[in-house]
Amino acid sequence: MLRLAPGWKDAWQRPDGTIPAVGAHRRHSKGARMPPTAETTHDVVVLGGGSGGYACALRAAQLGMSVALVEKDLLGGTCLHRGCIPTKALLHAAEVADAARDAGQFGVRATLTGIDMPAVTAYREGVVGRLHKGLQGLVRASRMDYVEGEGRLEDGTTVVVGDRRLVGRRVVLATGSYARTLPGLEIGGRVMTSDEALGLDHVPDRVVVLGGGVIGVELASVMRSFGADVTIVEALPRLVAAEEPAVSKALERAFRKRGITVRTGIRFDAVKDDGDSVTVRLDGGDELVSDILLVAVGRGPVTDGLGYAEAGVTLEGGFVVTDERCRTSTDSVYAVGDIVPGLQLAHRGFAQGIFVAEDIAGLNPAPVVESTIPRVTYCDPEVASVGLTEEQARAAHGEEVQTVEYNLGGNGKSQILRTAGFVKLVRVKDGPVVGVHMVGSRIGEQVGEAQLVVGWEAHPEDVAGLVHAHPTQNEALGEAHLALAGKPLHAHN
Ligand SMILES: Cc1cc2nc3c(=O)[nH]c(=O)nc-3n(C[C@H](O)[C@H](O)[C@H](O)COP(=O)(O)OP(=O)(O)OC[C@H]3O[C@@H](n4cnc5c(N)ncnc54)[C@H](O)[C@@H]3O)c2cc1C
Repeated sequence: MLRLAPGWKDAWQRPDGTIPAVGAHRRHSKGARMPPTAETTHDVVVLGGGSGGYACALRAAQLGMSVALVEKDLLGGTCLHRGCIPTKALLHAAEVADAARDAGQFGVRATLTGIDMPAVTAYREGVVGRLHKGLQGLVRASRMDYVEGEGRLEDGTTVVVGDRRLVGRRVVLATGSYARTLPGLEIGGRVMTSDEALGLDHVPDRVVVLGGGVIGVELASVMRSFGADVTIVEALPRLVAAEEPAVSKALERAFRKRGITVRTGIRFDAVKDDGDSVTVRLDGGDELVSDILLVAVGRGPVTDGLGYAEAGVTLEGGFVVTDERCRTSTDSVYAVGDIVPGLQLAHRGFAQGIFVAEDIAGLNPAPVVESTIPRVTYCDPEVASVGLTEEQARAAHGEEVQTVEYNLGGNGKSQILRTAGFVKLVRVKDGPVVGVHMVGSRIGEQVGEAQLVVGWEAHPEDVAGLVHAHPTQNEALGEAHLALAGKPLHAHN
């Protein structure tokens, strides 16, 4: 049921002074024949059908608005086709391989005889295909105008796609991101990004991963589980550098134990692909010979040549600048997802997309708070966090900060899984928990409670009073809060 703010229509008038009715232009353009240079009007025109764009379009349609969603490639974007879902399917296959390889540790006789990459690909594509179909069904059922093609922003209310002009009371930019590379480092042949790595039809013997951020460590973890000899090269002093330093240290230790070589604090200099192998030269002259070089040095915004700056949208370093309500510098134009500076995560895109649809509908939703967005890195061991690191908390709250590190050595389920790791809590003295940081196999599943604790500004004493099921890794969160509340149970620190 649509609940629009009184008076919202005043902001939206056609040049002739008439006002299109909400929902008056619902249409699904698949198969619909539009005359050349046809102009259609909508309440909302969304450019880009990835996590941020389609979430916005679906929510706007649910609220009764007429919506056009423009996508030049595949509905679902990076997350569904080249990001979250396919890589997590790979990581699951990697976990199965590890389980077979390590089965003897649990008294189970099993042998890992190899990785059938085409079969892994079939499994991965099956997962993606089913979700893609489901999403297409949702978009069809919403009766929005789904426009296939490359769109360009013409002005604050118009997106042009081929011969069509889509005029919107509001326009939402959601064109996402692409895999970056470094100057002098061309992608091609044996030098690839995560996009091309998904297409590998075999497991290379040797892999060098350039970049120890989230995507780099996930790909390194998969390749190692599949049996490759893996080296990570990272210019910063530690892996997953945005995380708590102790977490980076634990991850690095676990990776070394798994046989992954980690080279931090060293820069890439040059690469040579001679067709049979790649030679990666590092600053200082060291050379690494490998079968492939996986480049994971971050993602840049897809904003070039799309008319944004010409339409008055302020860009910084190619990213779209917005306020906390996702409004750009151009009246009536919003932006969501990876093109907006901040965490490049699918669930942030979903949340911003939904927020914008509700904002346009006049529901006055609360803005998405970046610091309460959960972050999970799905390598083995996993890394999960929400809120402030200890250093950030001290910068924000002075010395009035307390921390506790609960070692998974005291957690029954973690011992059953044979994982090391910890849960670290950061609180303001006599105040709420402002940060939760975790490392350990499967620990990402615990981020839901961590998010509620930080998002709802719970005090450790509140959480300590809640009973956590035994034996679960979730108990480790409960125990960490017990410890911080001054009544530790199975704490060995
Ligand atoms: C390897 C990898 C793993 C990842 N894993 C995770 C994870 O586990 N969890 C997580 O939360 N996030 C993960 N991410 C990040 C996540 O995929 C992104 O944060 C998310 O996809 C961003 O959504 P978006 O809508 O902003 O952009 P995108 O998903 O990139 O969507 C943008 C869409 O816009 C379309 N488009 C662009 N320009 C135009 C145009 N001119 N006209 C029409 N259409 C256009 C594109 O085709 C694309 O479909 C991962 C990313 C990668 C690369």
